[in-house]
Amino acid sequence: MSSHMNVYYFGSGKADGDRTMKHLLGGKGANLAEMVNMGIPVPPGFTITTEVCAKYQKTQAIPADVIEDVKHNVARVEAEMHHKFGDVQNPLLFSVRSGAAASMPGMMDTVLNLGLNHAIVDAWVARQPEQSRFVYDSYRRFITMYADIVMQAGREEFEEEITVMKKARGTKFDSDLQTSDLKELVESFLKLYKKKTGEDFPQDPWEQLYAAIRAVFRSWGNPRADVYRRLNNITGLLGTAVNVQSMVFGNQNDRSATGVAFSRSPSTGANYFYGEYLVNAQGEDVVAGIRTPQQIGKELSLKWAQENNITEEERALRYPSMEEFVPDAYKQLCDIRTKLELHYKDLMDIEFTVEDGRLWMLQCRVGKRTIHAALRIAIEMVEEGLINTDEAILRVDPEQVDHLLHPSIEPTAAAHAHPLGKGLAASPGAAVGQVVFDADAALKWSEAGKKVIMVRLETSPEDLAGMHAAQGILTARGGMTSHAAVVARGMGKCCVSGCGEIHLSAGQFELGGTIIKEGDVITLDGSKGLIYAGALALHTAKLEGDFEKVLQWCRQAKRLGVRANADTPADAAKAHAFGAEGVGLCRTEHMFFEGKRIEVFREMILADDFAGREKALAKLLPIQREDFEGLFRAMKGAPVTIRLLDPPLHEFVPNELHAQEELAKKLGIPLAKVQSRVTELHELNPMLGLRGCRLGIMYPEVYNMQVRAIMEAALMVGKEGLHVRPEIMIPLVGKRSELSFTKKNAEDTIAAVLKKAGGAKVDYMLGTMIEVPRAALTADQIAEEAEFFSFGTNDLTQMGCGFSRDDAGPFLRLYGELGIYDRDPFQSLDQEGIGELVRIAVQKGRKTKPNLKVGICGEHGGDPRTIHFLHGIGLDYVSCSPYRVPVAIVAAARAAVKEKLGK
Ligand code: PEP
Ligand code: MG
Repeated sequence: MSSHMNVYYFGSGKADGDRTMKHLLGGKGANLAEMVNMGIPVPPGFTITTEVCAKYQKTQAIPADVIEDVKHNVARVEAEMHHKFGDVQNPLLFSVRSGAAASMPGMMDTVLNLGLNHAIVDAWVARQPEQSRFVYDSYRRFITMYADIVMQAGREEFEEEITVMKKARGTKFDSDLQTSDLKELVESFLKLYKKKTGEDFPQDPWEQLYAAIRAVFRSWGNPRADVYRRLNNITGLLGTAVNVQSMVFGNQNDRSATGVAFSRSPSTGANYFYGEYLVNAQGEDVVAGIRTPQQIGKELSLKWAQENNITEEERALRYPSMEEFVPDAYKQLCDIRTKLELHYKDLMDIEFTVEDGRLWMLQCRVGKRTIHAALRIAIEMVEEGLINTDEAILRVDPEQVDHLLHPSIEPTAAAHAHPLGKGLAASPGAAVGQVVFDADAALKWSEAGKKVIMVRLETSPEDLAGMHAAQGILTARGGMTSHAAVVARGMGKCCVSGCGEIHLSAGQFELGGTIIKEGDVITLDGSKGLIYAGALALHTAKLEGDFEKVLQWCRQAKRLGVRANADTPADAAKAHAFGAEGVGLCRTEHMFFEGKRIEVFREMILADDFAGREKALAKLLPIQREDFEGLFRAMKGAPVTIRLLDPPLHEFVPNELHAQEELAKKLGIPLAKVQSRVTELHELNPMLGLRGCRLGIMYPEVYNMQVRAIMEAALMVGKEGLHVRPEIMIPLVGKRSELSFTKKNAEDTIAAVLKKAGGAKVDYMLGTMIEVPRAALTADQIAEEAEFFSFGTNDLTQMGCGFSRDDAGPFLRLYGELGIYDRDPFQSLDQEGIGELVRIAVQKGRKTKPNLKVGICGEHGGDPRTIHFLHGIGLDYVSCSPYRVPVAIVAAARAAVKEKLGK
């Protein structure tokens, strides 16, 4: 049992908790406590811990001691606010919000205005008739949220009634409705509530409060929260905390408002205060895209009006900035922005409410941002002296670095194309795809291998899986802080939001006079907010400027080397340009698939005997040598690990009759011979058959040819003045004797080549892959024969977990959903299982040879989590695909900095 309290109070300038207590209080609760401790105005309230949520998940009841604690803390809020919960003449109202340790924007539930009932509403209206509009507005909102969140009866029919009412009154916005309209809505909502739930709307505020707390706890397990956690790999949390906070009202009057802001631009990182707000509105109105939000600062408001062809007169009247509308509150908000940034030393995302001219903070958290913003903010904060370069490195999410390499529209293509329309540049990048109008279609089409763009009026958390599947997202409504914008940025997905000119109807939309139907191809430019018909050419940006600077810091901070898996000179050149410090894996077999080589290789496979094979190998030798020369030149003296032939031979011979006929003809041999060899090569379990070093043991001449080609190439390029460092790698070794056999042959070949070259020298190494569990467990013996190890974690995972690399997809997806494995073990190393094999092998190998060089060349080498793990167990380098190299550099640097800072 834990010794923590169940409930933590915040108010009267002091809070029980602070920002370090996220795990227990959730992000929202911990940061509310922190703001209170900083002296920032926060409506008082209390946080029920995530531990209580965990208990609730087991018993489905709020424990009795928690009920007592809630009562006690409600009394503390009452004393501070001078209002009483449930008091007809002087009521206190609460908001009840969820908040887990990891931010899950829009995933969980909120109930506002809790504590209202008929008697309180009637007395309020009688007491303060000037507030009647706001009181009815609050009550109708409360009924809707309670029906939706607590009773799970949905909110659509309630909203439909508002739409009908607005139509009848000829008004456009909720805020245009009159007091009498809202009163009428309350009455019809109460009836609708009864119809939908079979019960009268509860009149006891305490009953409302406990039901809302239960609903928030329940929301932790709802499917959309589940999907979000799965997509974002959020694991190991106890549950959500519940924040019960006294209400402040952004809908109280025309000097009231609610808004959200970022302390810097979350899109570009520029150091200006970016925020949107709505007058006379509450809670979710800003992000829900109900009305067009207004800018908080005057300068941006003027710019916005200009871009939207709104006259200054209209802007000042209908869309004034907060700076003009409530200048004192705005100034205070600016001061809080500075205070929070200095305190958290990071980009902050804040929510606030102005109640009758007075500012209240409802939330603050470290803001999500695009990678462009992340880099710029990290650099500028170092320049401003807020953070040092180590902290700056921790600000860059390596997965997000991947987004930098995402495409944009080819400038020449953009120059010649006319956009259909423009929306907000909500999340950068560009995307081409076929239009779909809902998440289901996005999923289905993308599963069928199509690229799709999801077009929605606005998005909601239900659309998450679809957004994930889509290349890009386009919405008609919603600002830069709308759900679509925030979520797309988090996913690094291109998004154009709030394109008001779009007219959506069933199965199509109209934009700029063009009708686009489901399945039509469009192109989005999320960096400029533009929408084009058809497919424009995309290109991927160069890594320069801000990124180069941060990468430089990362290179200095990291301990792990970062190499690339590259099979051809062209790949190697790309890898070198991305900053790879060597080639960690060249799969030589990939070289055989190019051009005419495959024919010669097949000739070797089909040969009857040694002599026949030697004849074909003699033809392959110069080809291989040339490939290796190209690789060495491209890597400009960095080490190049070349793996000798690995895959089973049947992968190289054709199975279709016409291809077999063609091959027989080319080689001048009977078809029957080709067919009988194909049959001979067939294996029931090829992954465990004649492959890897077993090939080199059955057919030593194949490996000998490859070793000879490597050494001759090294000599050749060495003559050009480059220091060539080949590392010859033998695959799929499980037993020391397998390695000693193949190694002996290789050494003999090397000696012969060097002798022939007049005793020339090459700085080479001979080593092995560790990809068979037996090799990991006997690594001390294997190290006697090897100068280096490179972990082939693809095969090690396959053989260690017993999951076929080629067939595990469907059940691994299910395993992920069921939480049997947190992550796909082929993407992110299964640290406690396969990782343990790696750890043992490193330890045993180094026991034999303290200086043994150890790397990884399986796919996991580009996965930031795995890189962190490998740093911890002392690998020398990781190797990954060229495009992942920058990601790996950042991940390796973060691992080193975290170790240094003890994080
Ligand atoms: C591995 O098994 O991890 C590896 C790098 O080799 P391959 O993927 O070629 O089997
Ligand atoms: Mg392998």
